[in-house]
Amino acid sequence: MEFKTIIEPFRIKSVEPIRMTTPEERAHYLHEAHHNPFLLPSDKVLIDLLTDSGTSAMSSRQWAAMMLGDESYAGAKSWERFFEEVNDLTGMPHILPTHQGRAAERILYSHLGGTGKYFFSNTHFDTTRANIEFSGSTAIDLPCPEAKDYDSDIPFKGNMDTQALREQIQKVKAKNVAAVILTVTNNSGGGQPVSMANAREVAAICKQHNVPFVLDCCRVAENAYFIRHREPEYEHLSYREIAQEMFSLADAAVMSIKKDGLVNMGGFLALRNHALAEACTNLLIITEGFATYGGLSGRDMEAIAVGLEEVFEADYLHYRIRSTAYLGERIRAMGIPVIFPIGGHAVYVDAARLYPHIPPHEFPGQALVCDLYLAGGVRSVEVGSVMFGKYDAKGQFVAAPQELVRLALPRRVYTQSHLDYVIEVFGAVIQTREQARGYRITHEPPFLRHFTAHFERL
Ligand SMILES: *Cc1c(COP(=O)(O)O)cnc(C)c1O
Repeated sequence: MEFKTIIEPFRIKSVEPIRMTTPEERAHYLHEAHHNPFLLPSDKVLIDLLTDSGTSAMSSRQWAAMMLGDESYAGAKSWERFFEEVNDLTGMPHILPTHQGRAAERILYSHLGGTGKYFFSNTHFDTTRANIEFSGSTAIDLPCPEAKDYDSDIPFKGNMDTQALREQIQKVKAKNVAAVILTVTNNSGGGQPVSMANAREVAAICKQHNVPFVLDCCRVAENAYFIRHREPEYEHLSYREIAQEMFSLADAAVMSIKKDGLVNMGGFLALRNHALAEACTNLLIITEGFATYGGLSGRDMEAIAVGLEEVFEADYLHYRIRSTAYLGERIRAMGIPVIFPIGGHAVYVDAARLYPHIPPHEFPGQALVCDLYLAGGVRSVEVGSVMFGKYDAKGQFVAAPQELVRLALPRRVYTQSHLDYVIEVFGAVIQTREQARGYRITHEPPFLRHFTAHFERL
């Protein structure tokens, strides 16, 4: 007999209390935070779905491994364990440890990029785009056309548009293409997966034009789960074998290990080419640290080596992907508009459709983020006109293409009853949707304003 309940495949050995608050307290705290949940102290939040980055719970095996940390400056045992794990996973001979993903991005993209160079991706993550543009290069997103369709049950909406990739390479000329980056899963594209067939096609195009193919592999284990269950040729391979096959197609990989590494900090850059590795190692030593630790302590590398094994365990990945889908499918059934099918690490709510009476310049996503906190102490993040809205040369407001709210699930942190609670909070929000009101920005910094802006309710 097969049981339907998706249980957490772990026992809880150490607990961290979270604090209930009253609606009056939450109204006060949100007011103090200028209606920007980024400015809330974490102990005022009950369920924190701000990000899945660096928020994982470590296993008892990882904590035990940390005690073995060898903190030698050069050639530490912990480096050897880290190297063996990342080398076995990626199949790449050159591994550079970094303190987080963006450090690996900065090293690789500043070396490959420069004025007049182009990068193409299924969707550049925001730190990826920032590092590319900072190097003077141009970053162009080429998501597949199905990515815009929020409702249909298409299995791989994270794919790259390979026809557009061919056309773009012709247009800018192959010698001006710094790299093609495939982000798995496609974080900014709703956490949607990329198929092996698409990765193979992208690799073939890169090879034909002699252009480097980089895998941004932050969530490569979650992506492997989708491949095994949606791409029939792969149902007999293990999740790790599927990831290894994907790495075998690439020339380089960058990873924020804060995601599928099941740790709180870390990153790496993996490379096949020896000369490129030498050049990047020089940059690593200037800003991150010596080649055998980068930005990491020995104990970090120990925990990472274990985390990168644990993340491919079948029971873990099943619980992980199913619990994200559980939250998304339940709130969808209540009438909350979400990006469908549900992605791997997060549920994306379409705030423009939930609050059609709030126009983009009054930030429907920010309204929902605030309402979720006020209703139940749930913290989420706006991915809409607060984050990506602009002013044109005449000072006119230009809305972001979409008004979303992201509920990102930390790994191994919350149980099904926590998610049932979040679902109930959405029940309260949908009942008062007509009373929801927009927001006005009262203070904003020149860059990345979503982190520190102040708001006022209209
Ligand atoms: C998080 C992330 C990064 C950047 O990594 P950090 O560890 O936050 O510096 C790059 N690409 C993708 C797809 C990410 O999700």
